Amino acid sequence: METEVKHLEPVKKTGLTVVITGNGKGKTTSALGIALRAVGHGMKVCFIQFMKGDIHSGELDSIKRLAPEAEMHVMGKGFCGIMGDPYKFSEHREDAQKAIALAKEKITSGAYGVVILDEINNSLKLKLVDLPQVLDLIDGKPPLLHLVLTGRDAHPEVKKRADTVSEIVEIKHAFQQGIEPQKGIDY
Ligand code: ATP
Ligand code: MG
Repeated sequence: METEVKHLEPVKKTGLTVVITGNGKGKTTSALGIALRAVGHGMKVCFIQFMKGDIHSGELDSIKRLAPEAEMHVMGKGFCGIMGDPYKFSEHREDAQKAIALAKEKITSGAYGVVILDEINNSLKLKLVDLPQVLDLIDGKPPLLHLVLTGRDAHPEVKKRADTVSEIVEIKHAFQQGIEPQKGIDY
């Protein structure tokens, strides 16, 4: 006999601020899991990628399959300040500033159940965006909106504001054993 599945409704609905940080693998994929879960409930999801990597990731296409509930905006030029980066700091900062403006617009629109700001924590660490800008997004969000901020090195003030903070600890990563990034797992 199949178990009857309950459809829970919280007594008090609350929009949460969730931070996913740390050096281990699983921050962006965790945020994508939240998007998948929320769309299942018919919620609208806006996924904004600060600092896009230069590899085409599967989620760019899978999010399209979750349309019209989910949408993704890739705002960055790729890794900032590491070897082979052809862009100036000011160019990266300009992109990140556009991402902040878009995030503000989406967050305050009231049209979404979940807004995900992927890699915003490292953008702040690299000074592509400023702390008051990030705090303003958190403080200005509608009460029922869930806001997810991912990326390494989350700022202490951002962690303080959040309701849920997870730090993913790296135990080991295949990359360090000389294994190249693999489709479906790494991108
Ligand atoms: P994912 O997108 O897999 O959830 P992430 O968002 O936690 O990873 P990022 O710092 O955004 O991690 O890095 C993205 C890419 O770098 C992924 O291909 C991931 O496998 C790889 N990566 C993540 N953590 C590490 C690590 N500690 N060492 C080497 N490569 C890593
Ligand atoms: Mg990531």
